[in-house]
Amino acid sequence: MTTSDATTQSKWLDAELKYDSGVYNKHHVVMTRGLAATVWDETGRSYIDCVAGYGVANIGHSHPDVVRAIKEQAERLTVMPQTLPNDKRAEFLAELVAALPQGLDRVFLCNSGTEAMEAAKKFAITGTGRKRFVSFRRGFSGRSLGALAFTWEPKYREPFGDAVDNKNVDFVTYGNIEELRAAVTEDTAAVIMEPVQGEGGVRPASIEFMQEARRLTKEKGALLIFDEIQTGFCRTGKMFACEHSGVVPDAMTLAKAIAGGVPAGALAMTAEVADKMPAGGHGTTFGGNPLAMAAGVASLRVMKREGLAEQAREKGAYFMEKLRAIQSPKIREVRGLGLMIGVELKEKSAPYIHALEHDEGILTLQATPLVVRFLPPIPITKEQIDTVVAAFERVLNSVNPRAERQAELAQGKEDKQTE
Ligand SMILES: *Cc1c(COP(=O)(O)O)cnc(C)c1O
Repeated sequence: MTTSDATTQSKWLDAELKYDSGVYNKHHVVMTRGLAATVWDETGRSYIDCVAGYGVANIGHSHPDVVRAIKEQAERLTVMPQTLPNDKRAEFLAELVAALPQGLDRVFLCNSGTEAMEAAKKFAITGTGRKRFVSFRRGFSGRSLGALAFTWEPKYREPFGDAVDNKNVDFVTYGNIEELRAAVTEDTAAVIMEPVQGEGGVRPASIEFMQEARRLTKEKGALLIFDEIQTGFCRTGKMFACEHSGVVPDAMTLAKAIAGGVPAGALAMTAEVADKMPAGGHGTTFGGNPLAMAAGVASLRVMKREGLAEQAREKGAYFMEKLRAIQSPKIREVRGLGLMIGVELKEKSAPYIHALEHDEGILTLQATPLVVRFLPPIPITKEQIDTVVAAFERVLNSVNPRAERQAELAQGKEDKQTE
């Protein structure tokens, strides 16, 4: 998002704007520090962080347990390929599997959400001997050429034309059982579903829809794969969002909050799926590295010890209740699950997100052009939630997008996407 007062740009901002590839629409601040749900910029200004690194910092920024685990592991061992077993990796695998729904007891470790989706695609193909997939309108699955095929938003796919293999993917309207029934056939390798669509505007699936997806995939011999990259690890008020419905998938993609802020990802799956991948059929150099694994073990323990699922459930209900009490004709709907919350406006959300950051010191995220998304670290306090809601109400009352837009046009500024 462009800011209007970028007159005192620091050398850090200059360098980042100058040398970055240019694919990101950078805000004109330089963030230097974080603790729990607060982050600070280089001038010392504090912000309440309702972005959490796009839902990575679920346990809070710089949690002391994770900091200690990283320090200790860095002094012992940071890299060890997966052909050579490692104590921290073994510990992480055992603790992750214990936290997962029963039956998902085999794990492919990687480094990001997109990589987890790539793995899901490959394991689904070998696991079923089929290559067609069902994905959802407004769904987001990552940005590699393989994962992009499942990502609905055309603007992510169009620059690459038919290099994105869309001909094997059917996009179904999220929540539409009839369309799902028509799409899942004996050629379907897998249905790829977010239990709550994140980028697509924070839309929880109904329990009935998830159950029907389970029933249909079983009937047709296809896999059900939940993308829990954003919804996993206590975000929605359960360890994994699928627990709200009791539906257990054949595989689940994980990343974001998996390792307390250190990059990591995983595909969890049944033995039946894992065993059909030939040895050497997939792999990664950094996946399961001891540094990320140590951070992951510490992070999983924090989630349990601090009852973060319970906290997300309670604070999410409190947050949504307060948001619903805002009197503003600009709000169309408040929805979400746990601390994954979206407020759909009747107009573009970008000017409000911008004003929240700029005028109120609150970081929020866009999810589709109309939605303001709140994904705070789960340790956010009720006082901070009160501050965020009061600020949001002020901004809704004070921002006049039309006047702002005209001012921007007058200055020749571009209207780019936030993310
Ligand atoms: C973030 C996200 C991804 C992609 O993860 P990266 O780590 O950015 O590659 C995929 N699916 C969902 C639902 C996500 O939220």
